[in-house]
Amino acid sequence: MASSHQASGIRPARLSAAEIADNFADLHAPFDAHEAAVAADRCYFCYDAPCMTACPTSIDIPQFIREIQAGHADSAAKTIFNQNILGGMCARVCPTETLCEEVCVREVAEGKPVEIGRLQRFATDQMMAKGVHPFSRAARTGKTVAVVGAGPAGLSAAHRLAMKGHDVVVFEARPKPGGLNEFGIAAYKSTDGFAAREVAWLLQIGGISIEYGKGIGVGLTLSDLQTGYDAVFLSIGLTGVNSLRAAGEDKAGVRDAVDFIAELRQAEDLTALPVGRNVVVIGGGMTAIDAAVQSKLLGAENVTIAYRRDRSAMGASRFEQDLAASRGVKLMFNVMPRAILGAGAAVEIELEYTEVVDGRVRGTGETVRVLADQIYKAIGQTLQQAPEGLEIDGGKIRVAADTGRTSVAGVWAGGDCASGGDDLTVTAVAEGRDAAEDIHASLMG
Ligand SMILES: Cc1cc2nc3c(=O)[nH]c(=O)nc-3n(C[C@H](O)[C@H](O)[C@H](O)COP(=O)(O)OP(=O)(O)OC[C@H]3O[C@@H](n4cnc5c(N)ncnc54)[C@H](O)[C@@H]3O)c2cc1C
Ligand code: SF4
Repeated sequence: MASSHQASGIRPARLSAAEIADNFADLHAPFDAHEAAVAADRCYFCYDAPCMTACPTSIDIPQFIREIQAGHADSAAKTIFNQNILGGMCARVCPTETLCEEVCVREVAEGKPVEIGRLQRFATDQMMAKGVHPFSRAARTGKTVAVVGAGPAGLSAAHRLAMKGHDVVVFEARPKPGGLNEFGIAAYKSTDGFAAREVAWLLQIGGISIEYGKGIGVGLTLSDLQTGYDAVFLSIGLTGVNSLRAAGEDKAGVRDAVDFIAELRQAEDLTALPVGRNVVVIGGGMTAIDAAVQSKLLGAENVTIAYRRDRSAMGASRFEQDLAASRGVKLMFNVMPRAILGAGAAVEIELEYTEVVDGRVRGTGETVRVLADQIYKAIGQTLQQAPEGLEIDGGKIRVAADTGRTSVAGVWAGGDCASGGDDLTVTAVAEGRDAAEDIHASLMG
């Protein structure tokens, strides 16, 4: 990992501390009370609200907006947290432009939706700032549940289970909780240590303990957990990374985008983080956008995203694509990596133009070279190691929709590691919550 920093064009302090602070400030500034009231006034409080149907956690959006409008931000926050205990993070990271705000009737009629995400942040931030936790535990049931992985899915499941009175132990392989909220989400979406603060707030429910540096394959097996607990919930995310299959992939300067982003998210001083002069990111999803935008914000001179299909096929939303373009990132479509060139360290990348025939991408033989002293691979994450005995479906743990039950009795799964659903924070939260409800029903007969 560290070797990539030794490549010639990769160095820290391309920008001053003031420039970095400015670049990594909150992407959307929070609303003040007046702005929130004005935004809430635009809502029509639709019956059968389409925004609510589009929300994977089914938050009662018209209800919480009405509560904000009436000046009851705490009630609004409770309405949100009832459905989505990570409503604070989701307000910051949800691609609302493809979810609730895309279908808002004011978007459809006027091209300007009610700013649901920012209103959600207004309400949840108010309550969290007071340190108030709106739920308490039911009487203890005497049942114990093991949750593996402390990302959004695991935290959501743990909270719901604890609320129902079960004792929950979360096993987390990393030394910190939060999963990709802590190690993956772009720094300008989750500022001021919000991910860690949110976990601390969530744990106020009680009944949840977290054991770090432990998990399946990290000192424990699935059968250990089946033996020791009444139920097991797997929320281990996707920690494996696909390879480029391009010549020279092992050269210094070539790195997984998720490792770079994790390092960036954990850096105490972003001016000390090395970045290349000419950065090329391979991929077309959120990870590619985040790696490219953050490289630019760190001071890389030229940043290019190279994607093998056309714009419409990109996993990143149009908003994310425009965000990258507005920060000076160049987007290249219909190209795939062929070779990374340079003596020891990457200097250039050779890309081949592509065409899509019968839905499959193939090279045209025409190539182009782009200067690249740093190359990030953002071509998708995979399940690193499926726990023993579980059925797999499309590279993920096969689960029943709505309940999260796996092929093994007593074992549930949710979030990115499980089949079905988009790989989004809000989907992980919904799946963790729903699996917890099913675990509760199953444990209590
Ligand atoms: C760079 C990047 C940017 C993203 N940006 C956005 C965004 O802006 N908006 C959005 O909605 N979504 C975004 N996503 C997707 C979102 O982060 C994920 O969908 C979400 O975090 C999935 O939650 P999860 O709990 O399933 O998994 P994770 O968040 O991956 O958490 C899994 C946890 O399990 C732990 N773990 C793994 N294996 C084991 C094991 N064997 N034993 C114990 N613990 C283990 C991991 O350390 C981790 O803490 C992004 C993803 C990436 C990679
Ligand atoms: S669709 Fe838009 S206007 Fe209607 S309830 Fe939802 S936010 Fe309000």
